[in-house]
Amino acid sequence: MNRKVIIIGSGPAGLTAALYTARANLNPLVFEGSQPGGQLTITTDVENYPGFPEGIMGPELMDKFRDQATRFGAECHFKHVTKVNFSEPPYKVWVADECYTAETIIIATGASAKMLGLKSESELMGYGVSACATCDGYFFKDKKVIVVGGGDSAMEEAIYLTKFASEVLIVHRRDEFRASKIMVERALNNLKIKVAWNTVVADILGTQKKGVHSVMLKDTQNDKTREEACDGVFMAIGHIPNTDLFVEALDADQAGYIFTKNGSTATNLDGVFACGDVQDNVYRQAVTAAGSGCMAAIDAEKYLENLHG
Ligand code: NAP
Repeated sequence: MNRKVIIIGSGPAGLTAALYTARANLNPLVFEGSQPGGQLTITTDVENYPGFPEGIMGPELMDKFRDQATRFGAECHFKHVTKVNFSEPPYKVWVADECYTAETIIIATGASAKMLGLKSESELMGYGVSACATCDGYFFKDKKVIVVGGGDSAMEEAIYLTKFASEVLIVHRRDEFRASKIMVERALNNLKIKVAWNTVVADILGTQKKGVHSVMLKDTQNDKTREEACDGVFMAIGHIPNTDLFVEALDADQAGYIFTKNGSTATNLDGVFACGDVQDNVYRQAVTAAGSGCMAAIDAEKYLENLHG
């Protein structure tokens, strides 16, 4: 059966696009991917999503998004898309050897925060380890936190965290920052921020019950390690948009973020729309992703109306 809409991805952008296209009677099919619910499922409390004054757990919020979309007829499948062919409509999407076709595609595959790859890092994610200061900074009032990275994100996160934390230690693997001069100046002029140069995080110590209590830092010049007490660790070593499937078909910037036309979610291909973090490396918030998911649904609906008159 040729579908009207296939949505790839199930974070706030994908599931909002599902809700809106379902309510427009377009019977969307959603492929949720390998992390159903997206990045919010690896956070704990979400306190900045409007409408939840007491806060809500990330996984619970995403379950509500899904429930709302399926209530209006969106079909959500816990399946991972393995291949696409957008050379001509109807567009083709494969899950292993099953092929699905649709007149429009909404891409909402998001981005993934880069991680160091430590076992303790994944175990303590959401329990003292975070990849989003805007989301989790508030939980570190008067605490000491570590920010890993030397780019603009690391500077921005470190500066933001000084609103809450008593001390922020930026841990950077080299002896100079990659970040822009103005951001570096701002960070270095902030009395709450200190820097550990030529240093990497070798391990994060803590438990899911009690949170993080320290990190093992390694000096990259002499390989010496030392334990540094802290209450939280923020990864700011970059994000990777999940666009491997689309590199051939869609225009993207150097980092892989899909280009969308100004004020719209249209890509370079008619009938293919992109929303959420896969096309946004600036705001990266659940609420902005949800907003652009709504835009993608409306754009797809208009496109189909024009197609069928
Ligand atoms: P980025 O510029 O790629 O910087 C990543 C940083 O993390 C680099 O300092 C890098 O070290 C370090 N790093 C990467 N992998 C690492 C690892 N495995 N272990 C330890 N350190 C590691 O990423 P970003 O800071 O997220 O910025 C992405 C883009 O968004 C940039 O173009 C940036 O300018 C832009 N941005 C702009 C603003 C702003 O203007 N307000 C804010 C945020 C982001 P090395 O330096 O040694 O490679």
